[in-house]
Amino acid sequence: MNIIIVGPPGAGKGTQAKKIAKEFNLVHISTGDILRDQMEQKTEIGLAINDLMNAGQYVSDDIIIPLLRDRLLEDDCKNGTVLDGYPRNIYQAERIDETVSEITAVVDIEVDDEHIIARMSGRRSCPDCGKVYNILYYPPKKENICDDCGAELMTRPDDAPEIVKERLETYRERTNPVIEFFRQRGKVITVDGTQKIDDITRSIVASIKAN
Ligand code: AMP
Repeated sequence: MNIIIVGPPGAGKGTQAKKIAKEFNLVHISTGDILRDQMEQKTEIGLAINDLMNAGQYVSDDIIIPLLRDRLLEDDCKNGTVLDGYPRNIYQAERIDETVSEITAVVDIEVDDEHIIARMSGRRSCPDCGKVYNILYYPPKKENICDDCGAELMTRPDDAPEIVKERLETYRERTNPVIEFFRQRGKVITVDGTQKIDDITRSIVASIKAN
């Protein structure tokens, strides 16, 4: 079973991907996390993509595709995966069969731009464990401290308002066609991403089971 989650930045892809992975016993793979990990480790790739990532632009296919392929070869992926943030353009979508054997469903989390901009201004992430909070909707118990590991929370550089606008434009231009691509294959499940987190998950799980 392989599930793809698409949606604009701040739609809640990561949150839903983790919950769906748990429900179906799959591995959650976020290409954004893979790339941020390269940056943290200051690998050759990490250093090369740093400015691009912080500006909210997509990383080149030559970089992301091999990184994802390597990750998918790891043992824990045998049972299936939830891909969060991939594919993000038509080139990646057209080559999905070379990366993942079979796609069960593509979940499109819809959220309008106004909601996104409001949400992103409150987003804070834990640099250690990756947990994501929102100071407006899902604050940590102790201000600016991760509930799980006690690290100080940070704002991702690409979550700055002017960068978010850029990311939204890129998403609409380059990733919207991906949804259309999979819609033609009859695989798309569309959910309203402005509902409560658990309601969204319930709706996704029910649609996947009914598929
Ligand atoms: P995310 O954590 O999914 O919001 O991704 C953060 C950033 O990682 C994006 O803004 C891109 O710069 C980069 N990125 C993640 N996935 C991809 C992808 N499939 N193709 C190109 N760039 C990506």
